[in-house]
Amino acid sequence: MDLRFNTSLAEGYKSGSQIARVLTEDWLARNMYCPICGEVSIRRAKPNAPVKDYVCEHCKSQYELKSKRSDSESFQATFAFSVWRFW
Ligand SMILES: [Zn+2]
Repeated sequence: MDLRFNTSLAEGYKSGSQIARVLTEDWLARNMYCPICGEVSIRRAKPNAPVKDYVCEHCKSQYELKSKRSDSESFQATFAFSVWRFW
């Protein structure tokens, strides 16, 4: 698992919250697996889809990403990952 963000993706963004969102979304897409069933990748839900931010194709668990940028000088982003299951 690569713990670093691809900070080159933040170029062109001014808003700290936008930067945090772009970096955490990219990181999750590259590194996150489904904590419910162990599927090695989860996919980003389509914009405006009636599901949460990420979906596991295998067990259909849905995840919501919440990220925020801290106010420190060096870039830090924290995110919470929430799990929804529907069945
Ligand atoms: Zn799953």
